[in-house]
Formats: sequence, structure tokens, C-alpha cells
Amino acid sequence: MSSRHIPHFQRLLWLSGGLLALIGVLLGIDRLALHHLQMDAERTANDWAVQLTRTVPGLDQVLQGKAPSREAQVVISTIHGSAGLFRFRLFNPQGRLVLVSEAPGLAQAGPQDTMPVPPSVLAGSSSVRLVQGNGLTLPTMYSEVYVPVLDGDRTIGVVEVYLDQSERAKLTTDSFRQAALLAGGALAASFALGSAVWLRRLGVERRAHERLQYLVQHDNLTGTLNLAGFRQRLRQACRQPGDEGLGLAVLAVDIDDFKGINDRHGHAAGDHLLARTADRLRSLLRGADTLARLGGDRFAVLQLGVTGSDDVKALAERILAMLSEPCDVGNGEVQVTVTIGAAILGVDGGDDETLTQRAEQALLRARSSGRGGYSFYDPGLNAALQRRRQLALDLELSLAHGRLQLHYQPLFRSSDGALQGYEALARWHHPVQGPISPAEFIPLAEENGLIVALGRWVLHTACQEAARWPGNLSVAVNLSAAQFGLGDALVSEVREALDQAGLPAGRLELEITESLLMNHTNQVLQTLRALHALGLKIGMDDFGTGFSSLAYLWRFPFDKLKIDRAFTQGLDTDTKVEVIVRAIVQMAHALGIRVNAEGVETEAQREALVRHGCDELQGFLLGRPQPVGKLAHETQPETAAA
Ligand code: C2E
Ligand code: CA
Ligand code: CA
Repeated sequence: MSSRHIPHFQRLLWLSGGLLALIGVLLGIDRLALHHLQMDAERTANDWAVQLTRTVPGLDQVLQGKAPSREAQVVISTIHGSAGLFRFRLFNPQGRLVLVSEAPGLAQAGPQDTMPVPPSVLAGSSSVRLVQGNGLTLPTMYSEVYVPVLDGDRTIGVVEVYLDQSERAKLTTDSFRQAALLAGGALAASFALGSAVWLRRLGVERRAHERLQYLVQHDNLTGTLNLAGFRQRLRQACRQPGDEGLGLAVLAVDIDDFKGINDRHGHAAGDHLLARTADRLRSLLRGADTLARLGGDRFAVLQLGVTGSDDVKALAERILAMLSEPCDVGNGEVQVTVTIGAAILGVDGGDDETLTQRAEQALLRARSSGRGGYSFYDPGLNAALQRRRQLALDLELSLAHGRLQLHYQPLFRSSDGALQGYEALARWHHPVQGPISPAEFIPLAEENGLIVALGRWVLHTACQEAARWPGNLSVAVNLSAAQFGLGDALVSEVREALDQAGLPAGRLELEITESLLMNHTNQVLQTLRALHALGLKIGMDDFGTGFSSLAYLWRFPFDKLKIDRAFTQGLDTDTKVEVIVRAIVQMAHALGIRVNAEGVETEAQREALVRHGCDELQGFLLGRPQPVGKLAHETQPETAAA
């Protein structure tokens, strides 16, 4: 029985219970009233017996069969009439009658009064009998109550009390009947009403339940299944494979740079795009296939009747083609690309739980080889991802335990070879795997947010270290785009690092890459300006490797531009590179920006770079990144002074 049936079951139980109670109450009400009367009589008789022992002088003598004194007679006679008492008889401890008191006079026991006393009363407990009289010589309803008369624990006799209960019986039965009618009426009314309400609610609840089921399993915005709905659908599909033994595939579809579209066109446009994308995807599916929005801009398609990877490829290509068409988003048109990852059940093994995961892993791989394409799940990929996950955990531990290091690579003035300062570069010696390149662990830290803590550590460590160097030497620190997500907090962090180290801001240089400017321009520019206002220098790293290097140069007053080492290396092989390098230097100088050339490995490169007017040189030829203690100014103090 499903859980939603339980309340109905309970209600049935309640209704039948109510019905039974109604019948039961109506039948049993008179018995109940009589029982009530008996209890009442017993209580009165007991009270009266106690009263008797207290007030009748020489009662124990009377109970032994002696005639009551005059005084005792008066007391006994006044007892009549109270609490409906119309007759009483006294017995000795053996149950023999010793006195009968009948209103209005007194009579000694006669032979007619030899009713035996119940043995239980002689043993100490009282006994009640309710009797219907004729209404003439005896009341219509009265009680005969036997009560033991006690002296401490000892039974010194028995008193039999006759109580007129006609009035009381009428009153009690009437009230009980009234109460029963009232309760019965209420019960009957609530039964009828309850049934009607119940039947109505059954319908309403069923509809509400259906609606809830729908909401729980569907996405509001697009009307497609949501993650929960998709999971259930996929589970069903995996349990009932097609008769012909056809396979099924999951395609994870992700809109490229959806965040950028949201930022540029607004959230309403973003919502439009999601809804339109769902419509388009739906139009590509066959009857049995299922579309879902798993969250954000992530869609999933469950493709059924798959005979091989060609079927899945064909669908993936149709999706890529259709979704790259311009799309109306309410306040204009946008053109997007999507990336797809696919996994096939059977081919890729696994079950409904892992299939979607695998499609998403394939999506990540497709992403890493550029946007707007698709990729199939590759088991090797799984292992690689697992290694990355483990590595990320190890990195977090290493950072927490202070096992990361900074190395410093010297930067030289090209005109005279004077040491200008160092670039701080993070180093990680993995406890098992040995040294791991920052080219691997920095992106890892960026992916899982660890970069914020790592960046803070680099900043503080580099500033502390530089504060110990000769005053003319600067330190360059690399900032990751992810750290700019902190906004004002990044500015405070930098200020704090400088203050704590006691390093003048003029000796700190922050290196950023142009990809940062390509993405979230306005907020980033604002943060950059705030950083600049602290008095430090800002350099653009890896210049020339991005797509729009030049476009960003005029938007922010960079102090330095670092020509990527690919150009330096290219100087040896391609004469066109010389032209480019010369142009970069001229342009930068015209904008008042100093130029650094990275990756200088040969004397020929050095000469060419000097000839083209680069201001600063950096590379293995001149100095490798080194740990503290082996820095150029420490080993050859004259370089710092040069
Ligand atoms: P980058 O900022 O461009 O750093 C310069 C890289 O070039 C360093 O690699 C350096 O060792 C290397 N290099 C220097 N001279 C030569 C040369 O003559 N030949 C060659 N082939 N390479 C040379 P490294 O230390 O492996 O750093 C790689 C990248 O990792 C850095 O590139 C930077 O983007 C990132 N990175 C390193 N440390 C940090 C850090 O503390 N924070 C952030 N956000 N990124 C960092
Ligand atoms: Ca750098
Ligand atoms: Ca660089």
C-alpha cells in the first residue's frame, strides 16, 4: 500500500468505529444509567453507615442484639428521610437481623425479616441491589445496600439500607439519554458530513496529488522533466529495455557561456533562451525519447531505440546544428553554441545511476577541447577525473598543512641587466607523486574554489618575503580570474597583506591574464582600479595568447605587459614574430606601458628582445625560479645593487 492510501484507510476505520460507537451507546445507555445509580447508592449507604457509627450511642451493643437506648432511638429516628433513606436494618456480625427501622416508627426484628446477609458483606465489602418497586408501598426504583459496620478492621455488624432512587433514576436516565442522543446526533451528523467531506476530499486530494507529482517531476520554466523526473524515467527505461534489444543513450547538452548571456542580456532573456532551447530540442526528438532540464543551462536527452553510436552522433549533430541558429530572446536575438556529452547504455556499461554521470563527464571532455562540439564517454576519462578529484583533495590538505612553497624567478632590466625583482611562483611537492606543475594544480584549484585560499596564502607569503629584500626590489604575484569574484574583498585582502608585511604598495605588482577582462569586464575593471588606487602596479600576463589582447589595453592603465614566451621562442624560427614583437613594444610604449619578455632561454633571444626595445627580461637563461635562500640578490649581492 502506498503511503498516500494510509489516511483513507484511517478514515474508513474512524467512520466504522464511529458507527459502532453510536449503536453501542444507544443500546448501552440504560445499563450505564443503572450502573451509575448503583454506584451512587453505595456511596450514600457507606456515608450513612459511617454516620451511624459516629452518632448512635452504644451501636456495638445494639448490633450484639441489645435494645437501643432511648437516646439511640432518637438519633436513629432522625436519620430517616435523609438522602432518600426510607428503611434500614441492622445485623449482628454473624448476619442475624437485630433491628429494623422503618419510617416513621421503630420495630424490633420480626420473623418475616430473615433475608440472609451476603457472605461478601460479612467479609467486609458492601453489596448493592437495584430494585424496581410498585410505586405504591415501595418506591418505583430503590436500592438495597448492605454495608459492613467496622470498628477499625473488625466487622462489628452489618447495616442494610434502603434508598429511594425513583427521582434520581429518572433524572439520571433522562440525562444519559439526552447526552447519548446529543452525542449520537453529533456522531451521526459528523458521520454524514464526514462522509461527504471525505468523498470530496478524495477527489481534491487525488487531483492535488497528481499536480504535486507533476510539479515534483517537471521544470517550471521549460515544462520538461526535471532531474528527479528524468532519473525516474531513465530508471524505467533501463528496467524495460526494448524488445529488439535496442540500447539507449543519454546526451547531456549544455549552453556555452550561458552566464555571459545572462549578464549581457539580462535574466529574462536567459529564461527565454532556456525555454526556446527546450522547444527546439523537443522538436528534434522522436515519440519515445525524453527531454529534461537537469538544472541551470544543462539539458539531458534520453534517446531510445539506439542501434549504435551512429544514431547518437546523428542526434548530437542535429542538436548542434539547430541550437546554433540565432534565437529570439524577447529583447533581441542571440546566437549560442552548445556542447554535448553522450553515454550509451550497453556500450559504455553502467546503469541508470551512472549513465547520466558518464554523459556529463563526456561533456566536460568535449568542453576541454573547445566549445560547440560533442564527445562520447571514455572509460579512461573516468579514471582521469577520479585522479583529479583525489589530487584536489590532496592539494587542499597540503595547503592546510603549509606544505606549499613559493619560488621566485628574477626579472632583469634589459638595458643594463640590473635585478628588478622577482615573480612569485607556487610550488607543490605532492607527498607521493612528487612535484606537480602549477599549470596543473592552479586550474584544479580554480575549478573547486580552492584558489581563493591559495591566492590569499601566495599574496601574504610573497609580501612577507619581499619585505626582507633590498628596498629597490619588487615582487610580482599572479592573480587568478577566480579571485576577482571576491570583488572588494580582494582589495581588502591585498591591502591587509601589504600592511601586515609592512611592504610599500609600490613594490608589489599583480599579474592578471586577459581572459579575465574578456569575461566579466565591468566588475573586474572596477576592482582593478581600486587595486591600482592602493599604489601597486598591474601587469598583463601572457600577452598575445588570447584573442582580443589589443582591445583591452586601452580600457585599463596597465603598468606592464608581459609578452608570452611563445613569442620569445618563436623569434628563433619565424621572422614574422620579430615584426609582431616590435609592434607590441611600440604600441605599449606609446600607451606608457613597460614591456617584459618571458621565457628567454638563449642568448640570441635575449639580444633580439633587447634590440626590439623590451624593458625587462625573464627566463631560464637569466635565472630559474628558486626557493628563498638561493635568490639572485642573496647569492650575488652585487646584482641587486646594479
Ligand atoms: P606564468 O605566470 O606565465 O609564469 C611563468 C612560467 O614560465 C613559470 O612556470 C616559469 O617557471 C616558466 N618559465 C620561466 N622562464 C622560462 C623559460 O625560460 N622557459 C620556459 N619554458 N619556461 C619558463 P610555472 O612556474 O610552471 O608556472 C606556470 C603557470 O602557473 C604560471 O605561468 C602561472 O600562470 C601559474 N601560476 C604559478 N604560480 C601561480 C600563483 O601563485 N598564482 C596563480 N594564480 N597562478 C600561478
Ligand atoms: Ca605570471
Ligand atoms: Ca606568463
